[in-house]
Amino acid sequence: MTNQFATTICCIGAGYVGGPTCSIIADKCHDVLVYIVDIDQTRIDQWNSDKLPIYEPGLDDIVKRRRGLNLFFTTDVDTAINKSDIIFVSVNTPTKKSGIGAGMAADLKYIESATRRLAQVAQSSKIVVEKSTVPCKTAESMRAILESNSKPGLRFDILSNPEFLAEGTAIQDLLNPDRVLIGSLQTPEGKKAQATLADLYARWVPREKIITMNLWSSELSKLAANAMLAQRISSVNALSALCEATGADIDEVAYAVGKDTRIGSKFLKASVGFGGSCFQKDILNLVYLCESLNLHEAADYWRQVITINEYQKKRFIQRIVKSLFNTVTNKSIAILGFAFKKNTGDTRESAAISLIKYLIEEQAQVHIYDPKVEEEQIFFDLIEPGVYSNENQVLHKVKKLVKVHKDAYSATLNTDALVVCTEWDEFTNLDYQKIYNQMRKPAFVFDGRLILNSDKLRKIGFNVEVIGKVAGP
Ligand code: NAD
Repeated sequence: MTNQFATTICCIGAGYVGGPTCSIIADKCHDVLVYIVDIDQTRIDQWNSDKLPIYEPGLDDIVKRRRGLNLFFTTDVDTAINKSDIIFVSVNTPTKKSGIGAGMAADLKYIESATRRLAQVAQSSKIVVEKSTVPCKTAESMRAILESNSKPGLRFDILSNPEFLAEGTAIQDLLNPDRVLIGSLQTPEGKKAQATLADLYARWVPREKIITMNLWSSELSKLAANAMLAQRISSVNALSALCEATGADIDEVAYAVGKDTRIGSKFLKASVGFGGSCFQKDILNLVYLCESLNLHEAADYWRQVITINEYQKKRFIQRIVKSLFNTVTNKSIAILGFAFKKNTGDTRESAAISLIKYLIEEQAQVHIYDPKVEEEQIFFDLIEPGVYSNENQVLHKVKKLVKVHKDAYSATLNTDALVVCTEWDEFTNLDYQKIYNQMRKPAFVFDGRLILNSDKLRKIGFNVEVIGKVAGP
């Protein structure tokens, strides 16, 4: 079967990155055979079904178009590795649960086991592409594992090719990336492997956007990019606190600041704080790297980005409690949005989770609606199976106090307040008069994403509290 294809690729890890990235390769290069593999059988079954394991606009069509032709999802990792010339490693790289010494390092156990498996089963030389976000110098550890565990005579050229897609816009980001980074060792073999991968991307990405560089620069660039994006959010959020205290308006301040072409207007939206699986993890990664190299002041600088994010989440909770006459106990609160951002069903590190956990702790009744997050996922995030020793008690409490709804109208019925946690477009277009009529009075709106028209809501009769703005008319 492989004979009809020019190249065969195996992607280890069928997640938010591996799935979309390699589906696009299959769609853009019909002469490339793509295997996307995972150790998680359920995830692979979902990739092979009509209901994919992740929601990403445009992804379904691409997968349906290529699946069974040159795109295959399988748990047969060994066979896929052996048939392939290029191996993408796109496994998860979470933060360790506890830290010693320099702090919270990235947990590279999945990278290590994928690399060991590759070394043990490979029967021919491979190009190995580090797609996961990893600490600088990880390629060196991968090389050591590959060289000491593989058949003699095999070559493994390791490239760093970090992924910059954002969930919710992954397909657009992959089709029209700002840049594609390919880092390699500056040896003739390294450069040859780099050129092979560059040729693959050049099938749909303009050559001038494909940037080649040394391996360590490429690894560090990914951490740097995420840290600077998160830093912008924390900067604007720190300013939002000042706005609430002074009467300045964060939207106006961000607009004015963003008009400076040296600064630019993107990523200057105040919010309840950033979430997602990447920003916090990658900053902790950077902090760990700095600390382990005795660059303590640099570590402190990046640590502040996370401190402000936590501060922002806490401030929002405090504002809700204060507005609701200093207690949320026995109040009924609707949460609109559970995903960490719009257009995704991903809930990792979502700001909604810490808010809801607080509300549960205070015995509030919580009514949740999110267009793309399933009830099962919401309870999983709130209960965190395996984390608490008193799991049954937690489960009982959550089940008693939390209800998941199928739409925003049902979620807001008879509630005291509604809180916008995710910036889903549909929340801006709800019939707020209808919602107001069915809520208890006084009815409160807390806009954690600055997406609602406060003037209109106040005219209806709501008390409106918006991040970065003072209350009132
Ligand atoms: P994910 O958790 O969605 O997917 C990772 C997958 O790897 C899981 O399905 C897991 O079962 C699988 N896996 C783990 N070990 C394996 C092994 N030995 N063999 C086969 N499969 C294995 O993670 P993700 O969100 O796709 O992130 C992957 C990497 O990409 C991370 O390093 C992340 O930081 C980075 N990244 C993520 C994003 C994003 O928006 N999610 C963006 C850019 C970069």
